[in-house]
Amino acid sequence: MNHQPFEEWLLNDKHLNPTEKRELDSHLRVCLHCTALTATGLALRSARAVPPAPGFAMRFQQRLAAQKIAERRRRLWGIIVLLLSGGVLFSWLVNPYVRAFSSAPVQSLTVAVGYFLYFATSIQALGETLLVFARVLPNIIPPYIWMIIISGLAGFGLLGSVSIWRFTRLPQGVSS
Ligand SMILES: [Zn+2]
Repeated sequence: MNHQPFEEWLLNDKHLNPTEKRELDSHLRVCLHCTALTATGLALRSARAVPPAPGFAMRFQQRLAAQKIAERRRRLWGIIVLLLSGGVLFSWLVNPYVRAFSSAPVQSLTVAVGYFLYFATSIQALGETLLVFARVLPNIIPPYIWMIIISGLAGFGLLGSVSIWRFTRLPQGVSS
């Protein structure tokens, strides 16, 4: 199809007389190429009609910098609050032990050693139990149960990584 002179007119944004306009209209009715060209021209003209306000780029950069500073300050305060509350909670938890220790050091030490021994023997017993289980379980549980358990764990892992991925992809934009 011959797009001339219509393509020329559209590209140069020519002012048309009534005859030329009629010719163009009849061509546009059968030509997708020039119809698309017309649409593009209209879009470009409407975009050109709204120029950015003077100093837009500078204001945008200033706002961006201010936002960065505010965010840094917010993060700093968050860390301070976290540390303070952590310290308060820790001292609140530890306080009874410290007081008990300072009032009766020897007795507290004995209790502490007793706790430690109890803890250690418990861990040891648990480890032995687990070893026995590990030795016995494969013989008791049929293979397809293992398949179900392993695929379930894999599914959970996948779910976890997906949710982490979505969490870290939060949109980071600058509101106007
Ligand atoms: Zn055409």
